[in-house]
Amino acid sequence: MTVLPFEKNLRIAGMQKSSTLDFPGCLSAVLFFAGCNYNCYYCHNRDILNNPPILPIEPVLAFLQKRRGLLDGVVLSGGEASLQGGLYAFARGLKELGYRVKLDTNGSRPAVLRTLLNDGLVDFAAVDYKAPLSMYDAICGEGALGGAGLFETFGMLRDSGIAYEARVTMIPQITEKKLAEMAESLPRLERFVLQLYRPVFAGENGRLRILEADAPDAGRPYVPGELHDLAVAVRYAQPNVSVRL
Ligand code: SF4
Repeated sequence: MTVLPFEKNLRIAGMQKSSTLDFPGCLSAVLFFAGCNYNCYYCHNRDILNNPPILPIEPVLAFLQKRRGLLDGVVLSGGEASLQGGLYAFARGLKELGYRVKLDTNGSRPAVLRTLLNDGLVDFAAVDYKAPLSMYDAICGEGALGGAGLFETFGMLRDSGIAYEARVTMIPQITEKKLAEMAESLPRLERFVLQLYRPVFAGENGRLRILEADAPDAGRPYVPGELHDLAVAVRYAQPNVSVRL
């Protein structure tokens, strides 16, 4: 039996054993890796960003070995999965088990993505496009480095031939004009997804920080109907735009 490579530096903070939503066309398990180089104020996975409890790796590997042939794919999510030192070996082990692999990423680590793509270890990538680059540090913290790496990531994916999507969480600061700017900044994609922003609870540190900084412009969250209107508004630049609620 194929054995997944054991990687003691792989920090998995959570696992969803099956999902029909996270990997288009695949019944998949979702792994949430600890840690992120961003600090988005609206992050809903904040509890796994800083030193969360780490799952023992052996039961995760045993589960994935047992489910081979029953699950189609595995989603590498987070946190930011591309920060994991053992990601390449892990993805290779998943492919040896016959899984399709999806990478969720903020797009900041194109060099990591390149090694995965070069060896055919990723079948689908979902790349967060947070905001126009000029807003990145305000939205995602200084660790975002102004969105460095994002467009190299998109360019690499375009050249790779694998399926991928840009996904935009529609926070109130992204006006129609800013969304149009984002839509125009990329070639026409097969998937350009607008996601509904769900506010995190007031009192979480990140939210307080951004509200202090941007409260006059923040406004209220979009409602689903407005997201559909925004999708129509940017269809001229991204004809395959869709809404995810
Ligand atoms: S990129 Fe932002 S939203 Fe995603 S895990 Fe990191 S801090 Fe959270």
